[in-house]
Amino acid sequence: MLNQVHRKFDVAIIGGGVAGISTALWCDELGLSALLLEKNAELGGQLLWVHNEIKNHLGREAENGRELRDVFLRQIENRNFELRLRTQFAEVELEKRAIALAGKTKFFVRSIVIATGIRRRKLNVEGEDEFQGRGIIESGKQQAAAVAGQKVLIVGGGDAAFENALILAETAAHVTLAHRRKDFRARREFIEQVENHRKIEILTETAVRKIAGGGRLESVELENPAAQKRQVLPVDALLIRIGVEPNTAEFRGKLALDKNGYIEVDRNCQTSLEGVFAACDVANPLAPTVSGAVGMGATAVKAIHYWLNS
Ligand SMILES: Cc1cc2nc3c(=O)[nH]c(=O)nc-3n(C[C@H](O)[C@H](O)[C@H](O)COP(=O)(O)OP(=O)(O)OC[C@H]3O[C@@H](n4cnc5c(N)ncnc54)[C@H](O)[C@@H]3O)c2cc1C
Repeated sequence: MLNQVHRKFDVAIIGGGVAGISTALWCDELGLSALLLEKNAELGGQLLWVHNEIKNHLGREAENGRELRDVFLRQIENRNFELRLRTQFAEVELEKRAIALAGKTKFFVRSIVIATGIRRRKLNVEGEDEFQGRGIIESGKQQAAAVAGQKVLIVGGGDAAFENALILAETAAHVTLAHRRKDFRARREFIEQVENHRKIEILTETAVRKIAGGGRLESVELENPAAQKRQVLPVDALLIRIGVEPNTAEFRGKLALDKNGYIEVDRNCQTSLEGVFAACDVANPLAPTVSGAVGMGATAVKAIHYWLNS
């Protein structure tokens, strides 16, 4: 195409969470030219959702994810790589290692590191988008004060749902925890505390069918198919914690993915396509951690460096 700008890099990194940041740092460390694409306005990914302390990343504790993110940003401040924020590719041809942006720019790169991470799973029911921020809340820790004296519903059966139930029960008038199965995945200590909490009620085998209200959230329609029971529960706030899914839609059919859509990689973070690597949460469903993201970014770049020079 005429007027198209072609640019070349050793490595294109897609996603600017911890794994992408670590990959960029290691590219500079090993003298590889790198392009980092991040769709959001700032780097950090999930770290920006973490409002609790992070005490388990060896080398640095932090009051919250943003503080740790800032430590990482200071560390890459003077590193040499090209950063494009608010940028998503329009098309990626993994086999040719070509990445086209929405305008006229097309990048030809020698290798790609996919570090697109995960997103929170949605219920996909009526009202979910409409009441986002108008009753549907994002974080128990951050919004505990805002739900003081209110009726809260939490959906989910894992650690995140149970931990948030305990946090929100400190201020809310009443908390209902609804889970679509009979059993919970949450750790035993959380389950015991929730079961014994005077302000928390648990509904099992219960699914959300509809989220409703006027200007703000007012009620949630629930169904227990086993008991053939439907009910409309009046609530002021709703927190959804039903797990996460990988950001891999654009790579489906182009790379080997597991049954849940996570990218399959070998011990060098190499995917099923030569020259295409993947790092941390997007390829690591069992052990998503800050340390894992730092480590997989480093591993991917070391492997790329070896591959390009062998
Ligand atoms: C509440 C919470 C608490 C946590 N607590 C801890 C803890 O205590 N200790 C610990 O070790 N870990 C913790 N974690 C997990 C840890 O934060 C993650 O494992 C880690 O941050 C994952 O980094 P990542 O780079 O793989 O992915 P992400 O952080 O998900 O980053 C992916 C990035 O890619 C971008 N992106 C996606 N698609 C595209 C695209 N097409 N183009 C461009 N950019 C794209 C996204 O915008 C995002 O910035 C916690 C996570 C959460 C949510």
